[in-house]
Amino acid sequence: MYKKINYFPFSHFIFILIIIMILGCGTMREKGFFGTDINQVEALITMLDSLELKLEMASVHMGEANWNIYTGEGPADLDSVKKEFAEILLNEEYQKTVDTWQGRIGTQDNPLLARRLELWHRCFLGATVDNNPEIYSLENKLEKIIADFSYRLNSEAISRAQISQILRLEDDPGKRHRAWGVAAQLSSVVEGDLLRLMAMRNQKARALGFPDYASLCLSLQGVDRKWLEELMAGLEEKTRRPYQTLLDSLKRQWEVETLHPWDMDYLLHKTASLPDSYFTTQEALPILTRFLNAIGFPIETLPIRVVFKDIPYGGLNLAVRIPEDDRLLVGPVQGHRFYGILFHEYGHGLQAVYTRVKPPILKGYEWLLGNTSPGYSEGLADIIADYTQDPLWLTTYTQVPDSLISVYQRAKIQSKIYGLRSLLATITFELEAYGNLGADLDSLHKAFIRQFLFLEISEDEPASWAANTLLTTYPVYFQNYLLSSLISAQVHETMVAKFGEGVVDSVGVGQWLVKNLYEAGETEEWTRRIEKATGRPLGSSAYLRSLKLE
Ligand SMILES: [Zn+2]
Repeated sequence: MYKKINYFPFSHFIFILIIIMILGCGTMREKGFFGTDINQVEALITMLDSLELKLEMASVHMGEANWNIYTGEGPADLDSVKKEFAEILLNEEYQKTVDTWQGRIGTQDNPLLARRLELWHRCFLGATVDNNPEIYSLENKLEKIIADFSYRLNSEAISRAQISQILRLEDDPGKRHRAWGVAAQLSSVVEGDLLRLMAMRNQKARALGFPDYASLCLSLQGVDRKWLEELMAGLEEKTRRPYQTLLDSLKRQWEVETLHPWDMDYLLHKTASLPDSYFTTQEALPILTRFLNAIGFPIETLPIRVVFKDIPYGGLNLAVRIPEDDRLLVGPVQGHRFYGILFHEYGHGLQAVYTRVKPPILKGYEWLLGNTSPGYSEGLADIIADYTQDPLWLTTYTQVPDSLISVYQRAKIQSKIYGLRSLLATITFELEAYGNLGADLDSLHKAFIRQFLFLEISEDEPASWAANTLLTTYPVYFQNYLLSSLISAQVHETMVAKFGEGVVDSVGVGQWLVKNLYEAGETEEWTRRIEKATGRPLGSSAYLRSLKLE
C-alpha cells in the first residue's frame, strides 16, 4: 500500500483562505480547475451520455442484424440500422461540440472525458469517408458481387473451401496451379469498381488532410504509420535468411528447381500440421471449457453463446451488447485449425464480457472506424488461440504424443515465417496501392510476391490482386493480424514469466488478463495498455524469440 502524504503548513492554509475570501466561493464553484465553466462541462457530459446511449442502441441493432444474417433467427434490417448510425454521425451540431471541446479538456484535467472526446472525434472523421453515400453504395455493390460470386474450375462450380483444400492436399502441381488461378475470375469482375472505390476513399481522406486513405485508417486505429513501417522492415530483415533456408530445404526435399505461390500451402501442410484425429469437433467445446475453467474463467456462467454453423468465414464473433451479450459462430473447419478458430473467437468473447467500463464509446463496439483498436482486439483473441499451439498446452489438454509435438514445434516455426512474410507482402501491397493508385497494381502485386516470398510468378499469370476481398470489405485491416501476433507473443512471454508452467492451468491467469487487458475497454490508447500490462512498449522481440530468431 502506498499513501501519499501531503505536508501542508498552517501558514499556507491561512493564505489560501484569504484568497478564497477575496475571489468568493461562487467563483470556485462555477469555474472548473481547468478554467472552463463547470455547468458547460456538465452539459457536455450529459450530451455525450445521451449520444452514447443512441450509439449503443445502434450498435446492438447492428450486432443483432448481423447475427440474424448468418443464423436466420430473426429479421436483418441493415438499412434502418445504418440510418440510426447516420443520424448520430452526420449531425453537424454534435461534431461541432466535440471539436470545440476537444482542445479544451486536457488529458491531465479529466482523462476519461478527454478520451471520450478523442474517440468521438475519430468516429466523426471515419464517418466522413465510410458514411459517404457514394462510397457506401459502391462498397455495397461490390460486397454483393463478392457474396454471389461463384468460382468455376474445369467448368464446374467450386467453393472457396474446396479451393483451399486442393491447394493444401493436391499432389499434382498442375492441378494446384489451376485451382490457384481461379482467383483471377473474381479479380477481373471487381477490379474496375474496386479501383474506383479506393480512389474515392483517397479523395475523402485527402480532403481531411491525410496523405491517403491508408494513413487515415491507421491514424484512426491508433497506429503510428512510421513505427509500423519500421517494425515491418525489421521483421522482413530478421526473417529473410531463415526463410531462404526454408525454401532451399523444401526444394532439396521435394526435388524441384523453382517454387510457385501454389506450392507453399501444400508443402507446408505436409510438414507442419498435427493429425486431425487428435482434434475432434465434438471434443472442442469440452476442452475449451476445461482449459478456461482451469485458468479462472467460469465460462458456464458467462453470457457467450457458441453456435456451430456453415458460414463463409472460419469464425465470427459478435459482441452484441457489451458486456451482457456476446455470440459467436464457428464454421465447418476440421481438426487443429478448428480449435484455433474456436479459441480465437472465444478470446474476442472474453474481452467483450469482461469489459467493465460504463460510457458506451469506451466499450469497444466494432462497428465504427475510430471507435476501437482492432489490432489490440485481434491480439486478445490470439492470446487464447495461441494456447492451442503451445507444447505444454497440447500435452495438458490433448492426447497428441510428445514425439509429434516436438516435430510440430520445429515445423510450425517454418510455416509461421512463411505466414509472416505473406502478410508483410499483403500489407505492403495495400499501403503502397493507396499511395499510388495510378501504378499497375497487378505488376506491383506480383513484384511483392517475388520480393517477400521469393516465389516464381510470371507476368503472364492473369491478375488476381482484386480477389482479396478484405480490400473491399475490411480496408486497411491486414496489419492488425501482424500486430495481433506481436501482442500475443509479448503477453504470453509476460504471463510465462509470471505464472511459469501454471500459465496453462493457474486460476490467476484469467484474473490477470481481466485486470490488465480486458476490463478498462478503450479508456486508454491500446499501445499504453500493452505497455502497462507487459512492462514495455509493443515490439517484435518476443515474437522473434517465439520463432527462435532472437
Ligand atoms: Zn478476430
